[in-house]
Amino acid sequence: MTTMLEVADLGHTYQAKDGAHDAIDGLSFTVEAGELVCVVGPSGCGKSTLLRAIAGLITPSRGKISLHGTPVDGVPADLAVVFQDYSRSLFPWLTVARNVEFPLRTLAKAERRQRAADALAAVGLRDAVRKYPWQLSGGMQQRVAIARALAYRPALLLMDEPFASVDAQTRFELEDLLLRVRREQDTTVLLVTHDIDESVYLADRVLVLSKSPATVVAALDVALGADRDQITTRSSDRFVELRAKVAGLLQNVPKAVEQQPVR
Ligand code: ADP
Repeated sequence: MTTMLEVADLGHTYQAKDGAHDAIDGLSFTVEAGELVCVVGPSGCGKSTLLRAIAGLITPSRGKISLHGTPVDGVPADLAVVFQDYSRSLFPWLTVARNVEFPLRTLAKAERRQRAADALAAVGLRDAVRKYPWQLSGGMQQRVAIARALAYRPALLLMDEPFASVDAQTRFELEDLLLRVRREQDTTVLLVTHDIDESVYLADRVLVLSKSPATVVAALDVALGADRDQITTRSSDRFVELRAKVAGLLQNVPKAVEQQPVR
């Protein structure tokens, strides 16, 4: 396997008015090429700080980040980020197709058009290419943001709570869409969520972070297979066991929570 992302002994200290504040400390993990890794952790533990450091938006105080062997030093060219807030990540004055083509400006026009058309087809938006973002539902807008990231063909796709702002049904659809396209396109994904069930449903591996300053308290192999579906997978013994384990770790309970029989 090839290592796509390596985070080694990462630490970041914010200098605030009331003194220095360690947001993350001694954080180490790797993401292999083609893997989908979910990061879960309590609110305020340092997840955004970690993502910002990987995206080259902040310079971490300590440690090392490498993307396919190259140290991250500024915003890496072959990385795409999908944020939670789709309404602020798309340009309202550009059509759906133009939004997806926007990061591909350096490519020849025909190539740009083709990549955008392929990515929009992959997310089921072939018919929306000439629409404007504000003419679409929230779930469709997030599909556009995902298509834009995929069309870019990043070495690593970073996703920061990407489905937290849509309704539950749309969230399930978008989760399945992500599973399908990452399989078809062999994309490497690092996704941050605070939804335990979502982390287990999507991931090959779940990294559980401690409270701030964040360190990795566990890296769990999910091993639910490639074919997952919202009903069968979520009701399987393995899924139930894993979500209890993650919940237990997040509450600092050493052992997995025993499942009580439903009466
Ligand atoms: P999460 O994304 O897990 O909610 P963050 O990475 O946003 O966590 O924050 C981690 C910790 O660092 C929190 O205690 C937060 O208050 C602090 N923090 C985040 N950004 C700043 C900043 N710009 N200045 C000072 N402290 C910050």
